[in-house]
Amino acid sequence: MPVRPSPGKGRPPSERPSKVCAHCGRPFSWRKKWERDWAQVRYCSDRCRSEAKRRAPQK
Ligand SMILES: [Zn+2]
Repeated sequence: MPVRPSPGKGRPPSERPSKVCAHCGRPFSWRKKWERDWAQVRYCSDRCRSEAKRRAPQK
């Protein structure tokens, strides 16, 4: 069985990427549920994302 390194797995939390929420301005770290679309993630939570859309709708 070939050994294949998987990114995001087996790393300490300090080595995980992090961003700053575009809505509340708080830093947040990579999460498993974002592993597919981390590049598009801008908000720390679904709540921030929905509130940001409500306050500043983007086309
Ligand atoms: Zn937020």
